[in-house]
Amino acid sequence: TVLGEAKKKEKLKDHYRLGQVLGKGAFGVVYEATCLDDNRQYACKSISKAKLVTREDVEDIQREVEVLNLISDHENIAELIDSYEDPQHVHLILELCRGGELFDRIIEQGTFTERKAADHFRTMVLVVDHMHQLGVMHRDIKPENFLLTDKTQDAMLKLCDFGLSAYWKPGMRLSTIVGSCYYVAPEVLRRDYGVEADMWSLGVMLYILLSGLPPFWGDDESQIFKSVLKAELDFVTPPWPKISAAAKDCVRQLLTVQAQSRPSASELLQHPWLRSQGVAADKPL
Ligand code: ADP
Ligand code: MG
Repeated sequence: TVLGEAKKKEKLKDHYRLGQVLGKGAFGVVYEATCLDDNRQYACKSISKAKLVTREDVEDIQREVEVLNLISDHENIAELIDSYEDPQHVHLILELCRGGELFDRIIEQGTFTERKAADHFRTMVLVVDHMHQLGVMHRDIKPENFLLTDKTQDAMLKLCDFGLSAYWKPGMRLSTIVGSCYYVAPEVLRRDYGVEADMWSLGVMLYILLSGLPPFWGDDESQIFKSVLKAELDFVTPPWPKISAAAKDCVRQLLTVQAQSRPSASELLQHPWLRSQGVAADKPL
């Protein structure tokens, strides 16, 4: 078993009715699910056991559940409500986010005002700070993994997908290359990294929130990796000339090649651009 014997006694279908598909990932499918007891709606991430080939795959799912139990009582994390296991699947019942991925919202809107970008970004840094304080690194921070609770302008952001997360404590070095090519930190590509790699990914997200374009790009994965390792920042192409110096400073601090020089999540929250009464302008970019 993946979740342990105790979890096999209760059956998913005695408690939830699955509806439409909300999304697909590497291991499974996420459905809308209705709780039969109270008619409330949730998301059900159903992971196909047939796709769990290696022991590492199984451990990844076990860690995802463990990590969710450890950190998901935060208002900006999609909460793990319950879990089930049958011969074919592991099912995770999660708080439902109806607003879709932040990535799609960025595409729809192009970019955000600096104020809106700062509001979103502060939330992201807060939730990453929460994880890091509890000794967990996400390792796949990107706009696809931030979901919105609904379609309104003031929907809340929820971090999801802890499938690649890792336990981390000061001094620990990791070497497995994981993540997504646009967001991966240079030291991850060099196979020697710590929790600072999440801060780099946050920097890439901030660059995209402000400009609509990824800072490091290329025609294929190896070109993108080359661009990441070079780490040259373009602040010349529009809309960058119109963006405040404080916002650019925030991006620059995060996208520093020297991982030790990057601010931690709690340090970053003190940055003037991110402080609640901050300097971020509320005009369209
Ligand atoms: P994987 O680990 O396989 O990448 P994810 O956890 O990222 O799976 O889920 C895949 C997709 O399903 C997400 O990108 C998102 O579109 C959707 N999804 C995941 N969790 C939820 C949720 N709690 N509410 C709504 N949609 C979700
Ligand atoms: Mg995912």
